Amino acid sequence: MKFNTKTIHGGQKHEEATGAVMPPIFQTSTYAQSSPGIHKGYEYSRAANPTRTALENAFASIENGTHGFAFSSGLSAIDCVLRLLKPGDEVVAGDDLYGGTYRMFTKLFSQYGLKFQFVDMNNVTNVTNVINEKTKLIWLETPTNPLMKIADIAGITTAVKEVNSAILIAVDNTFATPYLQRPLDLGADIVMHSATKYLGGHSDLVMGALMVKNSKLAEELHFIQFAGGAVASPMDSFLALRGIKTLHIRMQRHCENGKAIAAYLAKHPQVLKVYYPGLENHSNHLIAKKQMDDFGGMVSFILKDESKEAAFKFLENTKVFTLAESLGGVESLVNHPSSMTHASIPKETREKIGITDSLIRLSVGIEDISDLISDIEQALI
Ligand SMILES: *Cc1c(COP(=O)(O)O)cnc(C)c1O
Repeated sequence: MKFNTKTIHGGQKHEEATGAVMPPIFQTSTYAQSSPGIHKGYEYSRAANPTRTALENAFASIENGTHGFAFSSGLSAIDCVLRLLKPGDEVVAGDDLYGGTYRMFTKLFSQYGLKFQFVDMNNVTNVTNVINEKTKLIWLETPTNPLMKIADIAGITTAVKEVNSAILIAVDNTFATPYLQRPLDLGADIVMHSATKYLGGHSDLVMGALMVKNSKLAEELHFIQFAGGAVASPMDSFLALRGIKTLHIRMQRHCENGKAIAAYLAKHPQVLKVYYPGLENHSNHLIAKKQMDDFGGMVSFILKDESKEAAFKFLENTKVFTLAESLGGVESLVNHPSSMTHASIPKETREKIGITDSLIRLSVGIEDISDLISDIEQALI
């Protein structure tokens, strides 16, 4: 099946009892057994629930994996991956991660003896330079949030696996989605999503996803999820599955609108710099072109007037773009990373990597492009 068919049919079958085309919301915690341990495959909904199973099969299908897992949030999916490790193990991660991921690594897991090294993933050798016999996991995010940096998934995977094939490579694919980029095909072991964003696509749920292509790893992750308990609810599973069915057409429009807005901003006299992997002057445009089928709907920029006040004026002036955290929904959102999504990163670290007070991030929705551009135009005055 091609991707555009997989989003609708991948891993899916009609519900057996009634033929319902969409899986019902199995709003149940438990399942009748005919004799102790004799049941129809479901015992208790923390272990598995049929609505969640339908979604997890779709998750696996769209990322070309064999197993998918639906979590109560993107962060709980990341938490599950980190619980594969033991005290003393090391993780190499990008230096421009989602703020909540950075907070989890540095504030939660570093307390339990895991060591994190943050490097600029722009360059493969930055990663291979720091791996050692204690390194167990490489955590990649590409494109990154909010600076839209690109890491070469195949390049990093090949180089790391050459040194030690047991090191796991995990990719946070939230920004690209499998419509644009399929990390498991590029050699990664684990794909993670905040399904809150593009997979759900309608800003109406909080959810995480993991997809893998190895049964042993799947078994370990399922055990951690079951034992830790961070599962997605039946209702949210239903909504996310409904969202995935239109992922491809939403992404097509997100990409078209994102590209048009990046080009508009790049020419605007009040704009100093635009961060969008589809622009030829993006530092890793060629890698983006190689590993992505298009460039997505996330665009960040800084104004020539680099004061916080100028950025705030823009953020308060938009009318179609709503000032809010999050991204990936059908509606356009605008965000101020340094005081909103990335406030948990210390100011010096933030500024060192480029998340200054003048940086503005857009999640370009699927509205009419002329309304979006007019909105930016009036907000820049
Ligand atoms: C939102 C986000 C997360 C965290 O997911 P939640 O669903 O909010 O827990 C992780 N990574 C990226 C890139 C995100 O945008």
